[in-house]
Amino acid sequence: MSRKRSPSHSSRSRASKRIRQSDLQTDSIDPTIKRRFQRRLLAWYRKYGRDLPWRRTSDPYKILVSEVMLQQTQVDRVIPKYHEFLEKYPTVQDLAAAKPEEVRELWYPLGYNIRPHRLHSIACETVERYGGTIPKEPDALLSLKGIGRYTAGAVRSFAFNEDAPILDTNVMRVLHRVFYGEGEPKALKSRLWALSEALIPKGKGYDFNQALMDFGAMVCTARKPYCVRCPLRSLCRAYPDRST
Ligand code: SF4
Repeated sequence: MSRKRSPSHSSRSRASKRIRQSDLQTDSIDPTIKRRFQRRLLAWYRKYGRDLPWRRTSDPYKILVSEVMLQQTQVDRVIPKYHEFLEKYPTVQDLAAAKPEEVRELWYPLGYNIRPHRLHSIACETVERYGGTIPKEPDALLSLKGIGRYTAGAVRSFAFNEDAPILDTNVMRVLHRVFYGEGEPKALKSRLWALSEALIPKGKGYDFNQALMDFGAMVCTARKPYCVRCPLRSLCRAYPDRST
């Protein structure tokens, strides 16, 4: 996408179509805005969504491996390691049976060495407590040491097709810019979680969450977002301040 400057426009008329702060003080978002956001984001995803190896499986273990690898690491670097890792440890039982130092070695050079340790201990706990089946229930997932709210939501929506919310850095940035536009996203974390949940179209958690993540990685990027070509710009409180 090209990074052109935004055209001139009437910010007053645009503002009227955007989300009002007061909408977010109530329990529900304006249904029209909500529908527009969902429809535009899903339409964008159908056209531009990435074809990634972990989107071709519903195996919770493989999805868990991809999610742990993707923490702090770019997709391009994760893809070869994801394949290599699953070739060596194709099941949760294989990973649980491995020596922790071997797992750490195979992880190299992804970095953040706490992650292979964490993944290995999740595998051991899963075998020990759940007979090697990654649980589906949120409480059970969250009870596994090393699985936080984001990873539990990702496993539930990508492996079990549930309408579970997620909030990683990309999703937080998109929701914060569109619905708040200013302030510090981290200070609004609990509201953004609630928003992430409230926005999911019924039965479409998988696509919606993947769309949010891709949109944050490809359009509403941390630096120089592609606002001019953005399908959400008429709803976005950060536009045109963020446009490049
Ligand atoms: S208009 Fe810009 S800041 Fe707003 S959602 Fe689109 S890309 Fe992000």
